[in-house]
Amino acid sequence: MKLLTEFRTLKLKHPFTTSRKAPRVLTDSLYVYLEHEGYTGIGEIRPQEYYYNETFKVSGQVLKSALNIIGDDPFLIEDITSELKEKYYYAPATVAGIDIALHDLAAKILGVPLYKYLGVNPERIPLSSITVGLDEIHVMIRKLKELEGFPIIKLKAGLENDMEIIKTVRENTKAKIRVDANTGWEVNEAVDMINEMEKYDIEFIEQPIAKGNYEGLKKIKDNVNIPVITDEDSVDSKDIPNLVGCVDGINIKLMKCGGIREALKMVKAARTFGLQVMAGMMLESSVGTAAGANIAALTDYADLDANILISNDPFTGISNNFGKITLSELPGLGLKAI
Ligand code: MG
Repeated sequence: MKLLTEFRTLKLKHPFTTSRKAPRVLTDSLYVYLEHEGYTGIGEIRPQEYYYNETFKVSGQVLKSALNIIGDDPFLIEDITSELKEKYYYAPATVAGIDIALHDLAAKILGVPLYKYLGVNPERIPLSSITVGLDEIHVMIRKLKELEGFPIIKLKAGLENDMEIIKTVRENTKAKIRVDANTGWEVNEAVDMINEMEKYDIEFIEQPIAKGNYEGLKKIKDNVNIPVITDEDSVDSKDIPNLVGCVDGINIKLMKCGGIREALKMVKAARTFGLQVMAGMMLESSVGTAAGANIAALTDYADLDANILISNDPFTGISNNFGKITLSELPGLGLKAI
């Protein structure tokens, strides 16, 4: 297979802020194109320094040295991605980009949409939340007005005035509310906050505390009624046994776990242990969103809104109508370059 790459700067419609990062208006993606016998599979790489210090520079180095593993048979996806994931464990987004391109390519060669290739039912993709980033309260209220009609709002928390924000948001929307603390709270603080939040009818809390504190997670779970779901703590399938009994569910993201194959393993592992599953994503365009949506057909919750937060998405083919995601009927991911 021939591998080509393309770097793109993506513009966000609104500045994006979480408790871990300063506001951003731009984000970058590296697109991977795998060519084979006249077909081209597309993947997207959005590295996260948070997990393994993965950067675009690392992606470039990995892509160069991964060519011999990628080989010339796009149907050997399990062999290729297992070897890549083992060798380049520190570059999961890069491995995910290759994995997504391989899936797109294989399904295109077979002439079927990726969801058919995976054997999943696209009608089961849960309604997606849409994220309202941290901001001044009056700005958040204005954003909520703009998002009227979206059935699920995801709030980024982890600030001093979290409770004031959540109260105000509850007063200004009838939507379901999910709260993502992005590791922003201490254990006891999280217990108090989550219990206080109960009156605001919160669907679940995402990653309340710093990663790696399983006892802390268990203490929270045992002392609150709102479900707790990990994100930073559920990187890939090997994390799942540690979380059993400590949380209610896990958030899967292709860019942290290494792609569709690993995400499928995570879904199976989570279900084996009775955990709920959410399909989330980093700030990716339609390529990452479409790949994540194929996995979302196997999950309970979707948080796949990034493509609609971007104003210059280079691809089209997946729609989000007030949280209802519809996949393309074209082969593979079904995306077209704009
Ligand atoms: Mg999160």
